[in-house]
Amino acid sequence: MKLRLYNAKLLRHAGAPIEHGELCIENDRIVWVGKADDGFRADREIDCRGNLLMSGFCNAHAHAAMSLFRGIADDLPLDRWLYDRIFPLEDHLTAEDVYWGTMLQIAEFVRSGITCFADMYFFIDSVYAAAKNANLCLALCCGSNSYSDYDVVGEMQKNYAKYSALGERVRYFPGLHAEYTSEEKLIAAVADLAAESGAKTYIHLSETLKEVGECTVRHGGLTPPQYLHKLGFFENGGLAAHCTYADKDDLALLKQSGVTPVVNGGSNLKLASGVAPVTSMLAAGLAPALGTDGSASNNATSPFREMYLYSCLQKESMKDAAAVPAEEALRAATENGYGALGFAGGRLAEGMFADVVLLDLFAPNMHPASDIRKNVVFSADTSNVLMTIAGGKVVYEQGNYAIGEPLETIFAQCEKRKERLRRQAAFA
Ligand SMILES: [Zn+2]
Repeated sequence: MKLRLYNAKLLRHAGAPIEHGELCIENDRIVWVGKADDGFRADREIDCRGNLLMSGFCNAHAHAAMSLFRGIADDLPLDRWLYDRIFPLEDHLTAEDVYWGTMLQIAEFVRSGITCFADMYFFIDSVYAAAKNANLCLALCCGSNSYSDYDVVGEMQKNYAKYSALGERVRYFPGLHAEYTSEEKLIAAVADLAAESGAKTYIHLSETLKEVGECTVRHGGLTPPQYLHKLGFFENGGLAAHCTYADKDDLALLKQSGVTPVVNGGSNLKLASGVAPVTSMLAAGLAPALGTDGSASNNATSPFREMYLYSCLQKESMKDAAAVPAEEALRAATENGYGALGFAGGRLAEGMFADVVLLDLFAPNMHPASDIRKNVVFSADTSNVLMTIAGGKVVYEQGNYAIGEPLETIFAQCEKRKERLRRQAAFA
């Protein structure tokens, strides 16, 4: 399939000036960006009518199927949220529940311009099947712990081999839920697996003050990054979700180990966990990516809201309105995420994946267009997404979804399953 998107404003990457031009796609790749390419014969020509073409967004931390739990665990402190609501529901999840929950989340993703996501959840075959339907880039991140009654590391090894062989739009990251749910021998075994296979690893890290405090008590004063470093968990680098309470030394260690922090401003704010030190991350030379976390804790997966929070939470916490400018938020939401997950995307350039979003510049909230990049970060919302293209396939276009399942079926399946899970978890 060949697509030509013409008469567009182009943002090649977060730091680039806006240009007028066109973009050509052949199969899953961008083959041209710039002035008119008269020689390109497309199967479909799309007049962008002066709207903005930019990279699709990367959601580098999600638990997609938690969309099923949206709205049933709100306004609760973190421990009650987890132990009274989320864990009892998750006890009853089936592979089919995860498939339909992930499909619901994917519908929201493509409606929001997200073309790539990292997912940490159960029943990963279901997650893979759902992402494949919609042609999204998928990084499966293992979130195991020490309470499982099966060979966790053996399973990780099998999955790493299996999903590493499924093409360029899927990755697998061995990893763990968190330090506080993993015994030392499990962390060391994952580190061994990473060392043998060359894999990067993934984990929730220093999300709350409680987590950091308890880790230092358990491990002779070592913070979670220091403790994991000691065990070789980040031997080949990787990604660490949250890093809300990573201090200067922790951040230097993450930089040295090639670890990308994934900032989840909305989720941290709603669970009252804190504000990630993005200014210090950037000063340490890190390139943070952006995540939404699950829909039970956020409760939306809008890259626009996350970019806004990424920048504005820093302005407030640093008491400096110049902190973390819009360009940094755009970078975190696109190229930093794609790069950290090892996918060829996050910018408009020849040879990159054709993961592209078309944003409406003619909506009232985008006028006047004094600075389009600032408008994207500070003014835009998901209603401005006109079209989402994933791997060269139009997956969302002005209210129409092409994600492998009809939206009505996804809604009906999720409603039915949510009700059953509530009954099984025995809360009204
Ligand atoms: Zn998470």
